[in-house]
Amino acid sequence: MLKTIVLSAYHPTVAEIDLEAFKENVKTLKQHITSELLLAVVKTNAYGHGIVPISQEAVRVGADRLGVTTVEEGAMLRESGITVPIHILSSIMPRQAEDIVRYHLTASISTFDLAYALSKAAEKRKKIISVHLKIDTGLHRFGVFPREAVNFCKTCYQLPGLEWEGVFTHFSSSDEGDWKKTDQQFEVFRSTVNALKSCGYNFPILHVGGSTIAIEGKPEMRLDMLRPGIALFGYTPAPRQKDKITLKPVMKLKSEIVQVHELPPNTPVGYGGNFITKSKTKIAIVPIGHGDGYKKALVNKGEMLVKGCRAKIIGSISQDQTIIDVTEISDVTEGDEVILLGKQGHEEITARDIAGWMDSIVDEVVSSFTERIRRIYI
Ligand SMILES: *Cc1c(COP(=O)(O)O)cnc(C)c1O
Repeated sequence: MLKTIVLSAYHPTVAEIDLEAFKENVKTLKQHITSELLLAVVKTNAYGHGIVPISQEAVRVGADRLGVTTVEEGAMLRESGITVPIHILSSIMPRQAEDIVRYHLTASISTFDLAYALSKAAEKRKKIISVHLKIDTGLHRFGVFPREAVNFCKTCYQLPGLEWEGVFTHFSSSDEGDWKKTDQQFEVFRSTVNALKSCGYNFPILHVGGSTIAIEGKPEMRLDMLRPGIALFGYTPAPRQKDKITLKPVMKLKSEIVQVHELPPNTPVGYGGNFITKSKTKIAIVPIGHGDGYKKALVNKGEMLVKGCRAKIIGSISQDQTIIDVTEISDVTEGDEVILLGKQGHEEITARDIAGWMDSIVDEVVSSFTERIRRIYI
């Protein structure tokens, strides 16, 4: 985390984080998921929204737990005074076991080495730590193979210092709406859990899904806990889910025009000179670039809003600057507000639009904006 320095004026490019919208999204999701525990996934700096303020707000409005992917994120949340259980959803290195114990984090386990290291670290500090067994039902990222789960528990379940609080899996294709594959994975999960149970390996908390399962998953998939991430920030994972739940985008990205130029026809614009003006063109420079997570792929595709109108990105996106064509917009001057994400007048640019322009998903769009862009909480 960059330390906030106090200046008399700041860089014009900022991300406004609407905590009211975030709170409403959490409440909406809580209503949607009824009785299950809500684990708010705040990994990757809360999908770019700022992990500490977002997590504090999430807990305040009723998130039962938090989910991150690195020990650093978990430790940062503990240091900020958060006391609810914090899950490390990803695999970590055995050498990180000491910090899991020290910060009282809940680890996901899919290897013997990690289970053993955590057990040793817990014993050393005379602590009991919560762990969740991860089953790989088809994502093939990490997790214990279903056919090896019983044997895995034979070696790991009795290790001292560990409390096996839960067992979980993660679907590979639910966001894409592949319910055949998702049903199969769920069936594998269920039968694995049953096999474990019949051997005496019990796990009080079963959980399988993120936003998609919270929004449109079958009731039986809801189990004891749900793990929504992107939905908290105002977007459904897939466009088809848009009408199933009302969510509000939390992030607005804005800047100001730093320069305006009129260029004659046949003038190359930007690095490489690949874009050549056809006619007299008015260009405006916006101080954001790929160093801020504003991706080069947006050139010739993306748009920004100026004076309530859409302006196309042209030329090239450099590390700090982006060029837009404002020829058709009257009276554009330096200092005019530019909206890169959010509403201006009657127009709106959503993270879904940006994702479409760069052939990506909303998660990547919002998570990519770097810490150099100041977050302002409103
Ligand atoms: C990221 C993640 C989630 C949240 O997924 P969304 O689609 O953003 O809701 C849930 N569970 C695990 C294990 C994850 O890694």
